[in-house]
Amino acid sequence: MHTKTLAELSRGLAAGEYTSVDLTRHFLQRIEALGGELNCLITVTADQALAQAREADERRARGEAGPLTGIPLVHKDIFCTDGVKTSCGSKMLDNFIAPYDATVVRKLKEAGMPMLGKANMDEFAMGSSNETSFYGAVKNPWNTDTVPGGSSGGSAAVVAAHLAPFATGTDTGGSIRQPAALCGITGLKPTYGRVSRYGMIAFASSLDQGGPMTRTAEDAAMVLNVMAGFDERDSTSVEREVPDYTDGLDKPLRGLRIGLPREYFGEGLNAGVAKVIEAAIDQYKQLGAEVIEVGLPNAELSVPTYYVVAPAECSSNLSRFDGVRFGYRCEEPKDLEDLYKRSRGEGFGPEVKRRIMIGTYALSAGYYDAYYLKAQKMRHLISDDFRQAFEQVDVIMGPTAPDVAFKLGEKSDDPVSMYLSDIYTIAANLAGLPGMSIPAGFVDGLPVGLQIIGNYFDEARLLNVAHKYQQSTNWHEQIPKGF
Ligand code: GLN
Repeated sequence: MHTKTLAELSRGLAAGEYTSVDLTRHFLQRIEALGGELNCLITVTADQALAQAREADERRARGEAGPLTGIPLVHKDIFCTDGVKTSCGSKMLDNFIAPYDATVVRKLKEAGMPMLGKANMDEFAMGSSNETSFYGAVKNPWNTDTVPGGSSGGSAAVVAAHLAPFATGTDTGGSIRQPAALCGITGLKPTYGRVSRYGMIAFASSLDQGGPMTRTAEDAAMVLNVMAGFDERDSTSVEREVPDYTDGLDKPLRGLRIGLPREYFGEGLNAGVAKVIEAAIDQYKQLGAEVIEVGLPNAELSVPTYYVVAPAECSSNLSRFDGVRFGYRCEEPKDLEDLYKRSRGEGFGPEVKRRIMIGTYALSAGYYDAYYLKAQKMRHLISDDFRQAFEQVDVIMGPTAPDVAFKLGEKSDDPVSMYLSDIYTIAANLAGLPGMSIPAGFVDGLPVGLQIIGNYFDEARLLNVAHKYQQSTNWHEQIPKGF
């Protein structure tokens, strides 16, 4: 059962081949047998999952089941889940039981999807390897000596190892796409504002966006149908109709204009990865697409821009963790200042502290214009490049990450080299554009992701473009040994 896609499971449930309780038990057994080795889950909610599965089966018996009813999922531990620990990968929230559901959690619950547990992640979603988690590193199912990517590395490992057919992720600078690439699965970061951020613990509010991590584009379309949509509780959510994303999946690609940005194929790209991407582009040509070279001249500014904007916003967002209202509180504080200082000093890990310090500095009175304001201007230039490119092409393609999964510990002492893992993904966040990563091949036995960036609210096209490729290739069907 676990090797089936979400779409196949949906059909199997509808045909009565198995029940939701059967499915949920099966995935819980796999989690018990294999989850520990990968360290991909922080919390397993077996009782809740089985209760929800029973409800889903009853709902089906009443003839009220939707396409997702009864299919189990895992949530990244950044999404608030009512009555369930929501740690955000941090000691700061190790004791935090969320008192409400995030909108995404609520919608998927209402669709009838039992929750198996909460996925491990980089602390407060800051990282590209899942090594900054308070709960320890996650391992990549393709090679357990390597990282799964981050920050949604737990979610990616869960899906790649077939411990659930679907997991939620969030992407601030690449955290859905990069781990999807490194684990050989399909990940979609929607347009900023497409999916509600309510109840999604904030890292950098102008960049954060939740999205699906699945095996196939078809599966992503099915869950995006439920995840997307306006939410009055999120002031940045966009009021715009949600199409049925499964409708246009089979549209032929004849005449599709693919833009290849020169800047995404230069220095720093692993030669093996470049070959895989070239082969994927050739496949698209065979499917009838036309390839056009485009320029994103300001792309090289994206990493430096991001590392001003994201820390600035995080320094402000994380000021709420002060040891007073919720989360970790130090032992026996001497006075209020000691309470603040020690609670934050002891509750946050080194990467989070680094970001808070950079952000606080960039926002300070004397430096605001030089850093934050300048970064906002650069953000405009980056968005403008895309606007011009999308006048010529329908989608932009390139590698998701410059390399395949690296060894655990390899970049831990070198933050800049870690930050460069997102060199191809960050620009889409700065511009607010949707982006996907789909499996496109292997280098040294490790998966490579093809990135597809689309115009605003063009998720349906991205899914169509990804689906047609998956219909004509089998990279997404490969299974890591032992899983
Ligand atoms: N790796 C990037 C960072 O560390 C992006 C993280 C993310 O998208 N949440 O900030």
